[in-house]
Amino acid sequence: MPDSKELIDELRVEPGSPPDLARRDPDARVGAEDRKAGLARLSELVARLGVLHNRLFAESTRSVLLVLQGMDAAGKDGTIRSVLTGVNPQGCRVVSFREPTTTELAHDFLWRVHAACPVRGELVIFNRSHYEDVVAVRVRKLAPRKVWQRRYAHIRNFERLLTDEGTAVVKVFLHLSRDEQRIRLQARLDDPEKRWKFRAGDLDDRRHWDDFATAYEDALRETSTEWAPWYVVPADHNWSRNLAVAEILVAALERLDPEVPEPDPGTEDLEIA
Ligand code: AMP
Ligand code: MG
Repeated sequence: MPDSKELIDELRVEPGSPPDLARRDPDARVGAEDRKAGLARLSELVARLGVLHNRLFAESTRSVLLVLQGMDAAGKDGTIRSVLTGVNPQGCRVVSFREPTTTELAHDFLWRVHAACPVRGELVIFNRSHYEDVVAVRVRKLAPRKVWQRRYAHIRNFERLLTDEGTAVVKVFLHLSRDEQRIRLQARLDDPEKRWKFRAGDLDDRRHWDDFATAYEDALRETSTEWAPWYVVPADHNWSRNLAVAEILVAALERLDPEVPEPDPGTEDLEIA
């Protein structure tokens, strides 16, 4: 079993190299020997994340942005539920990006994204993101090539700005197989509690599976940078997916190493009467 660092390095898309999604196995079980060991490790990481997030919030000088992308049913919602379960909701926010509104479309593509970025001390999770503007927009032909093509550079620069100004940007692509997507979409349809998640458009997207794969391949290659690298997480097995995302997120917070502020002078020996 690889240790955390080895695992994270293996999942990372080296800046300047292709992510080579076709070569990466969505069905791989990473991070632990088996599900039982994986769940045990996940609960350690969830606890650690709680502590680190608490320090980040108390310190209130830096912030973390976790970007989650993936095909429909790749498990973005499930990852958020499991990995962030031990995080204080105060100081944490999930932002889901849907089709832009007319107001949003009247601005540049990063306008709504920038406005949703974390304030100092905050952990924000993007459930979809500005990457829809180079993936969904490209595949659904919502903008011509020359428009989405130049967005890669805008995205690199935008994420550079965020990092320079104190936001750690952690980007995770949940890598699902086409077969597993079929099983999950069917399960969604068959479960009245989950059917609401299914949209007719999901089938159109599924028909364009290869185009999405190409768009992701290009987007990840163009935007995996030293300051904001991509991680490709195998997503066919939920436990392994959750574990890998938790490893990546905890490592990012460990690197920041947030500290609680100095207490008021004279409070060390204070006893409350
Ligand atoms: P879901 O996340 O399943 O609720 O679906 C949200 C939908 O909004 C997906 O089909 C996304 O592709 C779409 N979406 C999100 N952002 C954009 C964007 N910037 N342009 C076009 N479609 C988008
Ligand atoms: Mg959906």
